[in-house]
Formats: sequence, structure tokens, C-alpha cells
Amino acid sequence: MSLGAPQYWGLLLAQVLLSLIVLGLLALLRRVAAGQPGPEVWTRAMAWVVLGMGLSGWAVLQTGPAWWIVYAFGSGMLLLGIGLLGEGLRRFLGRPMRTRGLLIGVAIAVIVILGFGAAGRPFGSLLWVSAMAALMWLNVGWVAWRSMRPGFLAIHLGLLLSALVLAAGWITRGVVLAQAGSQHWREALPEANAWLLMLSFVASGTLALLFVLLVNFRLAEKLRAEAVRDPLTGALNRRGFEDRSSRLMALSAQLGQSVTVLVLDIDHFKNVNDQHGHQVGDLVLKALSALVHRAKRETDLFARLGGEEFCLVLPGTDVPGARVFAERLRHSFEVLEIDTGSRFLRCTMSIGVAYASAAMLQSQRVDLVDLLHQADEALYEAKRAGRNRLRFYASPEVVSSRLDSRLFATTSTPSGFGASRPAWGDLPAGR
Ligand code: GH3
Ligand code: MG
Ligand code: MG
Repeated sequence: MSLGAPQYWGLLLAQVLLSLIVLGLLALLRRVAAGQPGPEVWTRAMAWVVLGMGLSGWAVLQTGPAWWIVYAFGSGMLLLGIGLLGEGLRRFLGRPMRTRGLLIGVAIAVIVILGFGAAGRPFGSLLWVSAMAALMWLNVGWVAWRSMRPGFLAIHLGLLLSALVLAAGWITRGVVLAQAGSQHWREALPEANAWLLMLSFVASGTLALLFVLLVNFRLAEKLRAEAVRDPLTGALNRRGFEDRSSRLMALSAQLGQSVTVLVLDIDHFKNVNDQHGHQVGDLVLKALSALVHRAKRETDLFARLGGEEFCLVLPGTDVPGARVFAERLRHSFEVLEIDTGSRFLRCTMSIGVAYASAAMLQSQRVDLVDLLHQADEALYEAKRAGRNRLRFYASPEVVSSRLDSRLFATTSTPSGFGASRPAWGDLPAGR
């Protein structure tokens, strides 16, 4: 393949146009995914690539005495752009960018190009740029490879492959130029660039699409996580609770684990709102949630069922364990001084507890909906008994657990569960 100067300009133009399209795509991505690290760096990176490519491509065909100076700076911009694509990927994946290392690397590359030019051997600088660009792409591939994680395997593999193809493009350019030799490299330039363009056409388009996919997946993941949480307290909302709790109950029955359910309700919360305003009320809800989040185990479920009523599902916890946990929670909240900005506020809460042994779950004598209603009944008893205390629903298993009987809810009707099964929609909420 041998192409003359017009073809060279055509290829260069095509390369710059392709990069401009990618730049536009990334700029759009940056707007859509505001707040996501990565797209912003990629956009800057691509701008450097376009600038560098145009400048260095133009410089190579100039015949003036110092064309290599412009070539050096153009190539520097190009290398900086490719390097930044990799660093942007690192940033997107939550790792620190190595900007200083990249800048030093690019500065050294520029100095070497200038050195070749000053020594009257500009041909060497062309090979050097090919090698450095290939290295930069290999770095992008390395970042993609190193940060592979489940669910994103295909995207990361795609990124790796694209980066490898781009590195191969630059290596091929170098090889074609090297074969032409220092006397004839100008004639070989169009062919060398044709190879680079051919390989980068597919790879850089794919790369841009993969960046878009990566960001989209991340946003979808974030939305999914947000859709199951209450924004004020970070507790699971009803949807999240229904989904996770049914899985947890099935797993508990399978593993032969007991399950304890706690329903928490802040005492006289209406008064807090009335006396201090709704915003202070919200602060109290947040403080309670933060406290629970700190106290609970990873496997425990914590949900806001409505208003100022919360629920905790503790798998693998027996009656004495649940008592210790609930009592500690109640006490921690009682002594917590909630900073409202102008003053410190203290509140209390009441807790209703219901327990089901593994055998009860396995025989399907009781399920989560029953347990929630039992805990709610016990909560009602705790309120009636004077608030700021906990009460257990007195099922036969709780009664036989040698727990202090003063902790039992007296109105519990153990024979009642399962009689008329309420649906999810009837779950206790915002008493
Ligand atoms: P009790 O001790 O019997 O529980 O008395 P209480 O005043 O806490 O009564 P109740 O549980 O019925 O009060 C619920 C109140 O919670 C009513 C409502 O104004 C308030 N509330 C519900 N959701 C929110 C919220 O998101 N923010 C704030 N600030 N208040 C809320
Ligand atoms: Mg209340
Ligand atoms: Mg309530």
C-alpha cells in the first residue's frame, strides 16, 4: 500500500474527525452523568488527543527547519490525552489518579523528541512516539484488566481488547516507518497512518461506547440501590424490605436459624415535631437510624416502615440475645444527645419484639407478616406500660425461654397467629 500526500491529509482528517465524534460523545456523557468521576477526565483527555493528533500530523508534513519542535509538542499533547484516558478510568473505578507521574512521563517523552530533532534525526522521534503511544494504550488496558470485577467482566475485557488493538495500531505504524528507513519515512507515512487509522477506527469507537456503558451501568446500579432505601434515614424502604426480608426468611428456614423481629417507635414524636418543628423531627429520625446502623450486624435488616416506625429483622438471634440487643439500643437512644443546631435534644423509643424458632419457620407455623404483627402488638403494650421500654410478644417459645416475665406483652394472643393472615399492605406503619 503506498499513498501520496493527499491521501495522507485525508487519513489525518478522518482520524481527527473520528476523535472529535468520540470527544462529543464523552462530553455528552459528562453532562448526563454529572457527579460521576471519569467522564470529565475522559473529555479532557480526548480534547488533548484531538489537538495533539492534529498538530503533530500537520507538523510532520512541514518542511521548515524546525518542524520537529511543533511535532514534539503535538505528540506530547497526544500522549497526555491517551494517558489521561487511563487515569480517568482509574478515577472512575475509585483509585487515585497518577497525574504527576503522567506529566513527568509526557515531559520526558517531549524532551526525547526534541533531542532527536536537535540531533538532526527526526526519524527517531517518529518511532519513539509510536512506542510511547503504544505504551500509553497498554497502560489503559492494564487498568481495565486490573480492576475487573464480577458483572462488569465483558466491559472490562472489551476495554482491554480495544486498548490492545490501539497499541497494535501504533506498533504497526512504527514497524512500517522503521522498514521504510530514515531516508524514505515521509513516503511511508500515509501507509503507516492508514494502518493506525484502520485499527483505531474500530477500537476507539468501541472504547467510547464501552465508557458510555460503564457509566450507564454505574448509574443504574446507583438507582437500584436508591430505589430500595429511604432517602432521609438510609434504612430500607418498604420495597427493599419486602424483597430482602422474603429472601432472608427463606434462607433462615433453610439454614435452621431462628429469627427475631423488632419494631421501634419513637415516643411522643408528635410533640417533638410540634415543639421543635418538622426539621428537628427529621434530625431525630436520622439520629436513631445512625444509631441502629452502627449497632446492627451486616446480615440484619433495618427498614423504615412508615413515619417514625422502624423495623429490624435479626436472623440467628435467640430470645436472650434479642433482649440484650434491644435493651442496648433502647438505652443508647435514651442517652443520646441529638444536636439540633441550637440545642441538644433527648428522646426515647419503645420496642416490640417477636421471636420465631427455626422449627416454627420450617413448619410454616409463622411467617414474617405474623412476626411483624406480633412485634407491633408487643410495641403497643410497651407504649401502654409507660413507653421507653421493650416488650416481647409472649409466644410459647418466648414464655419458655426463662426471660423475665415482666418483659412479656400481656395482651399477646399466641393462639391467634396464622388465624387471619394479613397481607403486606396491612403491615404496621406510622402508628
Ligand atoms: P407515641 O409515643 O404513642 O408513639 O406518640 P407519638 O407522638 O410518637 O405518636 P405517633 O407514633 O402516632 O406519631 C407519629 C408522628 O410522626 C406523626 C407525624 O407527624 C410524625 N412523622 C411521620 N413521619 C415523619 C417524618 O418523616 N418526619 C417528621 N419530622 N415527622 C414525621
Ligand atoms: Mg411514636
Ligand atoms: Mg408511630
